[in-house]
Amino acid sequence: MSSDSRHQQEIVVQGISASQGIAYGTVFVYLQSDVEVPSYQVDLEKRIEEVARFDQALLTTRQQIAKIQDEVEKNLGKAEALIFDAHLLVLEDQALIGETIREFEKSGRNIETCFNNVASRYIQAFSEIDDEYLRERAGDIRDVAQRVLQNLLGQAENSLSKLAEKRIVVANDLSPSDSASIDRSAALGIVMDSGSKTSHAVIVARSMKVPAVVGVRDLTKRVKTGDWVLIDGYDGLVIVNPSEQTLFRYGKIQSQKKTFEHRLLEANRQPAVTLDGVSISLQANLEKVEEIALAREYFAQGVGLFRTEYLYLNSARIPTEQEQFVAYKALAEGMAPLPVVIRTLDLGGDKPLAGNPDLFPKEDNPFMGFRAIRFCLEHTAIFKDQLRAILMASAHGRVRLMYPMISGADELARANVILEECKLELRARGQAFDADMDVGAMIEIPSAAVTTDLLARSCDFFSIGTNDLIQYLLAIDRGNDRIAHLYEPTHPAVIRTLKHVVDEAHRAKVPVSVCGEMAGDPVLVPLLLGLGVDALSMTPPLLPAVKYLLRAMTMADARELAAEALTLSSAQEIYAKCEAFCRARVKLD
Ligand code: PEP
Ligand code: MG
Repeated sequence: MSSDSRHQQEIVVQGISASQGIAYGTVFVYLQSDVEVPSYQVDLEKRIEEVARFDQALLTTRQQIAKIQDEVEKNLGKAEALIFDAHLLVLEDQALIGETIREFEKSGRNIETCFNNVASRYIQAFSEIDDEYLRERAGDIRDVAQRVLQNLLGQAENSLSKLAEKRIVVANDLSPSDSASIDRSAALGIVMDSGSKTSHAVIVARSMKVPAVVGVRDLTKRVKTGDWVLIDGYDGLVIVNPSEQTLFRYGKIQSQKKTFEHRLLEANRQPAVTLDGVSISLQANLEKVEEIALAREYFAQGVGLFRTEYLYLNSARIPTEQEQFVAYKALAEGMAPLPVVIRTLDLGGDKPLAGNPDLFPKEDNPFMGFRAIRFCLEHTAIFKDQLRAILMASAHGRVRLMYPMISGADELARANVILEECKLELRARGQAFDADMDVGAMIEIPSAAVTTDLLARSCDFFSIGTNDLIQYLLAIDRGNDRIAHLYEPTHPAVIRTLKHVVDEAHRAKVPVSVCGEMAGDPVLVPLLLGLGVDALSMTPPLLPAVKYLLRAMTMADARELAAEALTLSSAQEIYAKCEAFCRARVKLD
């Protein structure tokens, strides 16, 4: 630590945790600023050359992005590299290019000025759209436009790729290509003034496995290159000039975390059995086929939820039946002989399909709108392509199919009629599939929970999506941070609903799992199991902590906990009971 910073005052800044871990080091401030664009009139006889200069800059930019994409694919993986497809598409956008040329022909101003004007209009229009995903597309256009302008003006690329020493990068904003160009061996951590958990830059940071904190407002104005900071990616804190006491405390936290993580990983090799001998299937939630390795690494007993919409979100267009078949087959084979639950499309809500306003028109209330099974039952051609692909994959492993956002028995029946049509079509083609493939429904809408007995007649299994179930039951938008404190998984209404679903399902001999975030929270797991839930599915890195707790508790105690929780009236009180249950069984030191 530099001697002068030791005496400076410690400042603690709260942000949003974006990638776990603790890092301590000196800052490199990176200000993503717009390229300064000179404006001048172009002589008539030089106009053809000017357009040729534009074509050349587009070509150079395309080559630069393709090179970054290659490097990202090599270092981080195929899925992360796909981010740059969106950038390459911007360069092929005929509207953007055509409008630039038209503006140039009309005004005669230099091509940088015309391109900058047109791109700025696009960025403005996208950033005003009331939709996080589309707003982030404004970032893609901005990123590409800056590159094109740099190339037109003959400027060098940014400084992040040549960090001289190990640094914590503190940026006002990072484009995906900025974060991909960061020297991985030199970046200790990443802090961003702006950003949400879903921004592309954060996804890249997470896959680099460096601690990251975003949403720290104006930190770039409060620190300078060379200052010492500590970042706590667990709690989303940035501590500028940390005191000796803080460093000592974090040193202890870090070694505690390491020892505990080590213990968890050891326990994770053991079977998922409670002290009184009850086995529970602990499974993985996956979004990408490549994550099979992660599910395997953490000993998941299958995939309890494969969110297929990411196949669509990562692609510039809707994938064909064959493309989907390839992905689902790889999943089934990669996990065999373990089961995989492939969930049909859950687009809409907070996951609209970019660039398809015809399929997903703007809605005032997207979470209650044209989402998931509602979309599929209307766009049956898209739905059938997916159902056939899943059926075909069922010949290559233990595939189970699950419908999201089912609201009642009629909707389930309509989906099943379409599924039967697909089976007939495949039979006519002579295509192999598992005729007995299990079909299940998510219970994530209160009306489905209330009619569990009716749905059970046409289901082989249920999976409770607590993320949505809680938002609809308590009327709390799951993405709205203003009311996030009211999103209470231990609300008595939630617990009673879970009990009702489990009891009704079991009465009909239908097994129930939970695949919402509640399933990966060790504090809440005993309550879920005590209520009678049969299996849990979660993000793979959460499996060790859940299994550790499972192996330290008895099912008899969990049932007692659930019975007591059902008598209590306050969410906080129930949570405190769950926490005490967990603490009594898990020793951190
Ligand atoms: C849920 O709602 O709990 C769930 C698992 O589905 P998603 O988070 O994809 O909506
Ligand atoms: Mg859901």
